[in-house]
Amino acid sequence: MRRWQLAHVALRLCSASFSRRVRPLKVRSSAAMLPASAGGGGVGVPRMRRRIQSPRLTGLVRSGAEVVVKTYPATKTTSEVRALNGLDLKIPRGAIFGLLGPNGAGKSTFINTLAGLTNKTAGVVRIWGRDIDVRPRDARAAIGVVPQEISADPFFTPREALEVQAGMYGVPKAERRTDELLAAMGLSDKANAYVRQLSGGMKRRLMVAKAMTHNPPVLILDEPTAGVDVELRRQLWAYVLELNARGVTIVLTTHYLEEAQELCDQIAIINRGQVVACEPTTTLLRRLDTRNVVVTPAEPLAEAPVLDGFETRLRPAGAFSVTYRTGQSSVEQVLAAVRATGLHIKDIATEDPDLEDVFVSLTQARTPVEA
Ligand code: ADP
Repeated sequence: MRRWQLAHVALRLCSASFSRRVRPLKVRSSAAMLPASAGGGGVGVPRMRRRIQSPRLTGLVRSGAEVVVKTYPATKTTSEVRALNGLDLKIPRGAIFGLLGPNGAGKSTFINTLAGLTNKTAGVVRIWGRDIDVRPRDARAAIGVVPQEISADPFFTPREALEVQAGMYGVPKAERRTDELLAAMGLSDKANAYVRQLSGGMKRRLMVAKAMTHNPPVLILDEPTAGVDVELRRQLWAYVLELNARGVTIVLTTHYLEEAQELCDQIAIINRGQVVACEPTTTLLRRLDTRNVVVTPAEPLAEAPVLDGFETRLRPAGAFSVTYRTGQSSVEQVLAAVRATGLHIKDIATEDPDLEDVFVSLTQARTPVEA
């Protein structure tokens, strides 16, 4: 009964009207396509990402009316788990959309639902405006999913793997882009090698290429950089940015919050099968009104000083941080409180909150909902 009452808000993927068509891939440097002023760094993220907070992210989403529920039934040893507990999510077309949440939050269930691997219990899911219950084939044709685990047939060559994949999606031979995808993924010289001879990084790139054989407008990457070295990460992100610049909507799950912060236009944080935040990245980061002042005293300290009205923490090399609320206090007041203890200040620095701070504050309760 309760389940059905919950089932009245939609999860809509890319439901907005968006005129850009996904153009065929042409290999071209993403760096050349994106403003040099873009941010970057972090965990191997190319330093060429433009920070988009553009109007295209707003006004493109239709309001939803149903939410999605997925309940895994009880077994002899486990109770029923509501993995998606009224999930209400809209992903704007053209975005790089981050999907974050602690373990057990429901991210994989969500992705598997989109990919048609898991049947939702209730609710409506639309991909590119296509209801997965009404037009399952069309909906599936609109997404490419790169799963977390590497799964490649060891007896195929990359060229064969892409051809087979394109065949499965019914892409006519004349429209296949096998060579283009191999080149884009840096696999041209391995096109005819057996997949088993490829390195782990190459196999992962092949999986991205496989997900793109039918030229879907939405690409889902589930933890694509887990256990991947920095160089490969940079390559992968450069390609993802390139795809996005051509109009492909990217949905990304990652545990690297820095990566999400650098790459994503918009981020949804899921906890206990529900969306607890879904905002442009910069808005999300502004949610916390705390700042830190990091003080390096003239003499290194063994423990953080106690300051009236402020939280303090010891930092490496005998420094300490003082956390204050921007609406209530100022750096001036922090410094006055530090000086009042008789400490001599050698240096100070201020820190903004990062995504990790926001994430932790929004996902304190980490256990899944048991129905
Ligand atoms: P995440 O990907 O965010 O870590 P999942 O979607 O994998 O979360 O899991 C959400 C909840 O659903 C967890 O409590 C998990 O144990 C449960 N769950 C996931 N898959 C199954 C399954 N096949 N059977 C029973 N419970 C499952």
